[in-house]
Amino acid sequence: MSVPIYLDNQATTRCDPRVLERMLPYFTEHYGNAASKTHSFGWMAEAAVDLAREQVASSIGGNASEVTFCSGATEANNLALRGTAEAYAGRGKHIVVAATEHASVLDCARALETAGWELSLVPVGVDGRVRVEDVVAVLRETTTVVSIMLVNNETGVIADIAALSEAIHGAYPKAAVHCDAVQALGKIPIDVSALGVDLLTISAHKAYGPKGVGALWRRRRPRLVVQPQILGGGHESGLRSGTLPVPLLVGFGVACELADAERDAESLRLGILRDLLLEGLKREVGGITVNGSTEFRIASNLNIAIDGVTADVLLSETRDVAMSTGSACSSASAKASHVLAAMVSPARARSSIRLGLGRFTTEDEVTRALAHLAAGIRAVRGA
Ligand code: PMP
Repeated sequence: MSVPIYLDNQATTRCDPRVLERMLPYFTEHYGNAASKTHSFGWMAEAAVDLAREQVASSIGGNASEVTFCSGATEANNLALRGTAEAYAGRGKHIVVAATEHASVLDCARALETAGWELSLVPVGVDGRVRVEDVVAVLRETTTVVSIMLVNNETGVIADIAALSEAIHGAYPKAAVHCDAVQALGKIPIDVSALGVDLLTISAHKAYGPKGVGALWRRRRPRLVVQPQILGGGHESGLRSGTLPVPLLVGFGVACELADAERDAESLRLGILRDLLLEGLKREVGGITVNGSTEFRIASNLNIAIDGVTADVLLSETRDVAMSTGSACSSASAKASHVLAAMVSPARARSSIRLGLGRFTTEDEVTRALAHLAAGIRAVRGA
């Protein structure tokens, strides 16, 4: 079988060769430990980490001193939710998350609930968006952290985080707002000040950087306390111990720089290719409905329900296209998509696929993917 056409860029992206090139010397030549203060190997590593921290911070409008590096967004989300909830447990034990959050947020929220916290799950509309009034309605004096993602990993729908933060802080100034912005990096601008959040998560591998590295941004003023979840040598100002993965951080920094520089042109190009795919499918096979808001969404994602088709069957029928029925994380546990379940009927959720275009997707690939998908849909409908 030939290599499938990769249309699963929300699951992960190919590491950009320009990123890899800058990483390589940090595996082979500059392999020092960034915490070694007594020789030039350590100083080289430390300088590389400092630069990466600047690059990452600058891509989200933050300050380098506010960035904590960790192993990815799963860990950053754990640190944000558990760390904040635990630090402020004396003040209150109520947390709020949207029903369509990533498993790494939802499962932390559920674990906290088991441990004695009160949890409010905020619903979304059929457009996949969280309403300000629905969040405000559940807030209370004991609310310590509210977590709502910027771009959904399954539907590509963009939330109005600025309006949500303003309303939350307006009603309860002590409640911290956390935002999982993993799927927004390189797709829409991220500015922690404009968003008005207190904590923000990003990950390198969703933006053409390496897997296994991410960051939690935490505002410094006014001071927000977060309880460390990994203890040890006191790295990252004591918030996340563990030797820093210097090559991965170098890659993360370069990926952030490229994401910033190429975001607008890339979004424009991918929006055109996405429309080519969507219009082509509508023309060729019909019965296609886009899941989620068509107005507030990133350009590179297409989550569609296909009439008369079970998504799992279509996926096994169309092996030439690498795509998914939901997030890779929920695929791993073979559960139905909780994101679509919160938005549409179970039947529509079962007939939905996610197509994610990316930096390396070409027009020729989209044309070929369209032909494969149309043939697959016809075959499933005719069976
Ligand atoms: N949040 C979102 C929105 C995601 O899409 C993902 C990756 N599927 C994660 C968190 C987890 O990221 P990581 O793979 O870096 O742990």
